[in-house]
Amino acid sequence: MTHKNFKNIDKVTYGRGSFSQLAQTVEPIRSLNKGYFVYIVDNYFKGKTLENNLQNKSKDLVYFIDVDPHEPTTEQIDTLRDEILKLQGLPSGVIGIGGGSIMDIAKALSLMLTNEGSSTLYQGLNLIKKPGVYHLGVPTISGTGAEVSMTAVLTGPEKKLGLKCDWTVFNQVILDPELIASVPTDWWFYTGMDTYIHCIESHYGIKNNAFSLAYGNQALQLCREVYLNENSGQTTDNDDKLMVASLMGGLSLTYSEVGVCHALSYGLSKILGTRHCLANCIIFQHLQDIYPIGHAEFMQMINKHKIELPKNLSKQWDDETISKMALVSYNLPFMWHHAFGDNYKEIATIDYIKELFKRL
Ligand code: NAD
Ligand code: ZN
Repeated sequence: MTHKNFKNIDKVTYGRGSFSQLAQTVEPIRSLNKGYFVYIVDNYFKGKTLENNLQNKSKDLVYFIDVDPHEPTTEQIDTLRDEILKLQGLPSGVIGIGGGSIMDIAKALSLMLTNEGSSTLYQGLNLIKKPGVYHLGVPTISGTGAEVSMTAVLTGPEKKLGLKCDWTVFNQVILDPELIASVPTDWWFYTGMDTYIHCIESHYGIKNNAFSLAYGNQALQLCREVYLNENSGQTTDNDDKLMVASLMGGLSLTYSEVGVCHALSYGLSKILGTRHCLANCIIFQHLQDIYPIGHAEFMQMINKHKIELPKNLSKQWDDETISKMALVSYNLPFMWHHAFGDNYKEIATIDYIKELFKRL
């Protein structure tokens, strides 16, 4: 057995108002390469107070990106990379300010600025050849764990798969809970549930261990405080906790693995474009037999916050669509292995996975 050997974020700043330390944090890096930073900012912040507090210098390039039309794509990263290199040459670093989509764009861009050719060549584990430029993440939604993970998920013409290697991990993150206050309630719920599901899936599988459980149990406890207990809801105290839960949930799955919900979620997102966190919630509500304890608690949280999730979707799907989704999920064997153990191939057949999709 080979034990995992994981790269963590180099540096973390945490606390209300910590975003104001961005400029001083990146100052020592400014002398590298052509001496400027590329800002990748969620378009949501255009015209908001944060736009006036970016702390950028005149040479910096600031891109506001609308992440709503689609999740990050290989083509989008390649085009952006080519444009930036043509405009000003290799930057000192990339600063990503936004949710999971922006985190992934910043991570992928950092790598593709120094690795030639299309990002489609590097979708997978350890395919990247050279370290990217310095990259710093400022999450503005909490839950995906993208701020701490060693992958940058991209949708390409063939695969929805991450650029995954040690160099993907951020050099620095700034966790300022003030930035997540404006997240709409439904997204606050879906993204927080991504963390919750990370912890449940990490726990209930053969790859769990004391390390992953320690992070997972603490993140689950924080999720319960944020979404279930009497003081649950979108409050400042809970935003402080959710930001930490997201990071710890990400670390829990890093040291273990995700499971059935995520395997299905990749199928749903790849074929129908459903966003990751919403897709997980749509699926998890039907996994009562696979994750009974997590499912029961999840349903309590749904009821508590009066969240309406789409149901009866599969009625509109033909067999070809379901087969395509099932194939994407089937091709994530490490998730099925973790969830079902060494004889997973006998359980997680294409037909079994199709039946799971028919529950949705
Ligand atoms: P997102 O980044 O897709 O953003 C969702 C919406 O929230 C957008 O409309 C955005 O404009 C808006 N938004 C962002 N910050 C806001 C704020 N503070 N106030 C109000 N609105 C705000 O959301 P997400 O769910 O965080 O990220 C999903 C993406 O993360 C997917 O592309 C998925 O593939 C990726 N992901 C990556 C990893 C990883 O480990 N790298 C893990 C899970 C998911
Ligand atoms: Zn997830």
